[in-house]
Amino acid sequence: MNNSTLEQLCEMADSFYNRGYAFGSTGNLSVRLENLIWITPTGQSLKGLTPGQLACIDLQGASINENHPSKEFPFHLAVYKQRDDAQAIVHLHSTYSVALSCLESFDPEKPLPPLTPYYFMRVAPLAVLPYFRPGSHELAEAVERAAPSHNCMLLQNHGTICSGSNLSEAADRTEELEQTARLYFILRGEQVRLLTQNEIKELQKVFGKHR
Ligand code: ZN
Repeated sequence: MNNSTLEQLCEMADSFYNRGYAFGSTGNLSVRLENLIWITPTGQSLKGLTPGQLACIDLQGASINENHPSKEFPFHLAVYKQRDDAQAIVHLHSTYSVALSCLESFDPEKPLPPLTPYYFMRVAPLAVLPYFRPGSHELAEAVERAAPSHNCMLLQNHGTICSGSNLSEAADRTEELEQTARLYFILRGEQVRLLTQNEIKELQKVFGKHR
């Protein structure tokens, strides 16, 4: 067990709570270490967690230690099964992303306008998944279908899932998605200069085709 990675996970969870990205007992984070998944426990706040409180499960969902995993663990497993390169996952109910996911006028094909290059560098393409009950098998199946081609997902009327090759990358993506959703609401009704098709193409050329 790599204890420093588990400490990093706890510090990150605490930071998300302290900065208002997570509240109550919502949100869950996980990392993969040697084919075991370490995930934040069910029914507990992300604030002040310690490595000894994290639940450990295998890729089939069987418990490896005495702590109970977040009820949303099935979609974490769905991402890890589909993506060998995914080593960390952050799932939050952060305010602006959830607000975006609740809009009735929402276009799943174009969830956010091209506001900044950072959205393209860290988030796009963003998968939009229809609403399913949190923790359900159906939600895990939808995540499993989206995972091969997306690092970032927006769950309608629920929240975000971002994966990465390490915790920092998953957190960066989560924060960029929340920030872009926030910008979107701040700019609604304003005359906005969007990135042009050429500017977007240039970003895709420099930063490669994103999943
Ligand atoms: Zn959730």
